[in-house]
Amino acid sequence: MYRTHTCGELRKEHIGQNITLCGWIQKSRDLGGMTFIDLRDRYGITQLVFNMEINSQLCENARQFGREDVVQVSGTVSERSNKNPKMATGDIEIIAESLNLLNKSKLPPFTIEDHSDGGDELRMKYRYLDIRRNPVKNNLILRHKMAFETRNYLSEQGFLEIETPYLIKSTPEGARDFVVPSRMNQGQFYALPQSPQTFKQLLMVAGMDKYFQIVRCFRDEDLRADRQPEFTQIDCEMAFVKRDDVLNTFEGLARQLFRKVKGIEIHDFPRMSYADAMKLYGSDKPDIRFGMTFVEITDLVNGHDFKVFDEAEIVVGIKAEGCAGWSRKELDQLTEFVKKPQIGAGGLVYLKFNDDGSLKSSVDKFYSEDDLKLWAEQFNAKAGDLMLILSGNIHKTRTALNELRLEMGKRLKLRNPDVFAPLWVVDFPLLEWDEESHRFYAMHHPFTSPNPEDLSLLDTDPAAVRANAYDMVINGVEIGGGSVRIHDKDLQNKMFAILGFTEEEAQNQFGFLMNAFEYGAPPHGGIAFGFDRWCALFGGSDSIRDFIAFPKNNSGRDVMIDSPSEIKKEQLDELGLEIKK
Ligand code: ASP
Repeated sequence: MYRTHTCGELRKEHIGQNITLCGWIQKSRDLGGMTFIDLRDRYGITQLVFNMEINSQLCENARQFGREDVVQVSGTVSERSNKNPKMATGDIEIIAESLNLLNKSKLPPFTIEDHSDGGDELRMKYRYLDIRRNPVKNNLILRHKMAFETRNYLSEQGFLEIETPYLIKSTPEGARDFVVPSRMNQGQFYALPQSPQTFKQLLMVAGMDKYFQIVRCFRDEDLRADRQPEFTQIDCEMAFVKRDDVLNTFEGLARQLFRKVKGIEIHDFPRMSYADAMKLYGSDKPDIRFGMTFVEITDLVNGHDFKVFDEAEIVVGIKAEGCAGWSRKELDQLTEFVKKPQIGAGGLVYLKFNDDGSLKSSVDKFYSEDDLKLWAEQFNAKAGDLMLILSGNIHKTRTALNELRLEMGKRLKLRNPDVFAPLWVVDFPLLEWDEESHRFYAMHHPFTSPNPEDLSLLDTDPAAVRANAYDMVINGVEIGGGSVRIHDKDLQNKMFAILGFTEEEAQNQFGFLMNAFEYGAPPHGGIAFGFDRWCALFGGSDSIRDFIAFPKNNSGRDVMIDSPSEIKKEQLDELGLEIKK
């Protein structure tokens, strides 16, 4: 037996016991007559003691070992005179009786500690050493718990986990595909799935009723901090369901994950229409941990010779309670913030409802105190409040005000990472018009069904049709999205036509699905969650990379295995491929 216990396990009640541990040497300290070693494994750290007086040979031996050497130690658990309350095993230490080197380590290129001295790229190159550090290790443990509880909940609900293929067919919709050349069919390519969407729908036709899969998906997109070329979804589909059946089922999943993984009971789980989300928060993924909802004053401001407002489609603001005392400098900073090109507002108008009841705005030249009073009333403001107002094109202004609201939420510490506020955003538009290519795109994907109430608009005003689609949003992060699907072949064909597919293209790309729909497709719907992102949110991080054991860097490279890489000429020949130089 290599070990009797782990390095995180021993407590006072083990005092006097003879034990054997295995692990890595975190640190070694020589204090003349005594040598202390911190021994680490996945479970924690235990202090080992070597005493010159008791066993000088063993002590000398221990002094030879360096950081990250792998050792096996046997000895007796003893009470520490100098307890360390910060360590789970801090009440005890091991009086070593034998020490066995299992493997020598080179000096690691960075310190294996919570705050390492290694830069990003270096730690990625030695990811296996990085994973020895608590923050990374704990993220992977969290990820396991999330996956485990997901499987538990969905299995209890009668879902079956079914695998779908990774080598599938390329389709031009959506993001760019990763493709894999076929040796046996030269000149032809598989594509890696962007999601198992069509397969899960086929499983519904196949009668599998409730499907899920924790599955890798691949999208060849430009990378950002929260994107990876391969990422994981909790992918789900159900037959014989309406929208609310799906929402209730997965609200249950979210509640279970919050309860089991975070120890949090979720009370409210509101549902908000896309239209309301845009009107009140300027975002389809509102952070509802705090209020500061939008107030429109467009009707109040016109006709005062203030051109900016007169020409604006919308004049809309937020109220920051108790901020009327903000200085000129702070307001200038906010103005600079909204004028940044990424945010794109022309400027910022403020209105202060001072503590003495007076009103002061940055547009006093154009508006009397009585005018401003009407604004303040519209905002439901009281003495001490500050109002921040933007104007312009409806969509752009709302989007910019969303950024300002989030920034104010941050400055006022209203975005507490320990508070979680989930919601459903529903009734998304079905289609999105693209000015450049002059065509409609599916806002979700081409298999999403229109809201039954809006079916008649499909011919007359497609842009106004709402989709039977929904997103789960937590703290301003889109965690998942899905829809009730089209299960009728004619409606699906009509949808393809609206999206600009010729009949032949539709048949070529999705013929298999259309054919399946002729054999009794049940009504069905589903959802997919961004698993990495959900883990990151629960782990209190913005970056999904921290929650993936072996992630790619920002240029899509795995710097540890050095991939992507060139392949041999013979391999290319076998595939019938040639590299253009
Ligand atoms: N397959 C969709 C996606 O990846 C999710 C869904 O509709 O279930 O976004």
